[in-house]
Amino acid sequence: MSTAEVNISQNFKMTKLEKKIHKQFITKFERESILIQSPGRVNLIGEHTDYNDGFVLPAAIDKTIVLAISPNNLTKIRAYSVDMEESEEFEIDNLHESNKHWAKYIKGAVSEVQKEGHHPRGFDVVFGGDIPIGAGLSSSAALEGAVLVGMEELFGFGLSRSEMAKIGQRTEHNHVGVKCGIMDQFINLHGQENKVLKLDCRSLDYELFPFERDDIKIVLCNSKVSHNLADSEYNVRRAQCEKGMEILKKYKPEIQNLRDVHMELLQVHKDEMSEVVFRRCKYVLEENQRVHDACNDLKKNDFEAFGKRMFQSHEGLRQDYEVSCKELDVLVDIARDQPGLLGSRMMGGGFGGCTINLVEEEQVDSFTETIRKKYKDKVGKETEIYVTQISSGAKVLER
Ligand code: ADP
Ligand code: MG
Repeated sequence: MSTAEVNISQNFKMTKLEKKIHKQFITKFERESILIQSPGRVNLIGEHTDYNDGFVLPAAIDKTIVLAISPNNLTKIRAYSVDMEESEEFEIDNLHESNKHWAKYIKGAVSEVQKEGHHPRGFDVVFGGDIPIGAGLSSSAALEGAVLVGMEELFGFGLSRSEMAKIGQRTEHNHVGVKCGIMDQFINLHGQENKVLKLDCRSLDYELFPFERDDIKIVLCNSKVSHNLADSEYNVRRAQCEKGMEILKKYKPEIQNLRDVHMELLQVHKDEMSEVVFRRCKYVLEENQRVHDACNDLKKNDFEAFGKRMFQSHEGLRQDYEVSCKELDVLVDIARDQPGLLGSRMMGGGFGGCTINLVEEEQVDSFTETIRKKYKDKVGKETEIYVTQISSGAKVLER
């Protein structure tokens, strides 16, 4: 054990993951580093509302990426992924394409920061985490956020958290080829302990609401179905929402998006659109309203009401928006009957991925056991279950 590590461990309590990353950095680069903690996220309610300029209600969780970073007085970035056991190097003024997927996020973040007119110097970075990868908890935004917060801490560009979120989003768009919205990066960088964040996807204004119940856990059940349909159906849904808007705009030209439409207007013109387009639009209007209502529930500490809205959200996604699938429905249906369950719904784009469940802490063990067993019986697949709670956004760990 190095002297530096002894000093740090004496004064600061590190998690196992933090210790592991900290130690790996010292082993690889033989000096100290600073540590960044960067969380995954859940979205409690507000699905398929983002591209309709609506509202979402994400929170940062206690599954994180930990990243150790330090300047190296070179013109290079040297990076090591602990989980992939791979290294990559970049010349800072001549960033090459990497064939290592994880390295695209690092190169991308550096490149996008440079496009903003900043000049990061050489640094070394080691990272790893416990966010399940590709499960819809946004490990990718956590990686981007960690790199950006790390560079900001080293070089002091003066980037705000919202600017970093946009840079993270551009990293995915321009360097990874994922045309994502901004929710994941935004919550990664603005999340707070015991708070959920209502984000206005049009203006990026946000408001934090209390979620102050240590006795309620957020339990994610992974259907283990990969989202094969998600991309093509996503485009179909977007087109259907636009179709609805086209019709409504004839009567109210000032509306820009479904976010501006009242239910009365939609009802009045119901017969002018196909039944499917009507249902898609109705779902979006109702889901936006549910986000607002759910925030009021939280203000009143009414988790029963909040949980009911999660079920309603799932019903809307299943019946009206038609983006659920058999496996997600089975998970919600099993959950519904379990003691201590407050609410359950599919989370994310649909056609696979996880369900999100609010479960009283003392029932969590029996809940997970039952879900495992019944899902296996009904679907013939193993589920993977992650028990989480709300935690803070990306931050430099204090020493
Ligand atoms: P998610 O839903 O988890 O964001 P993505 O496919 O968008 O799924 O991002 C996953 C990618 O992010 C991985 O393929 C990898 O490149 C990178 N990544 C995330 N977490 C890690 C990690 N712990 N170690 C290395 N790479 C990671
Ligand atoms: Mg992602």
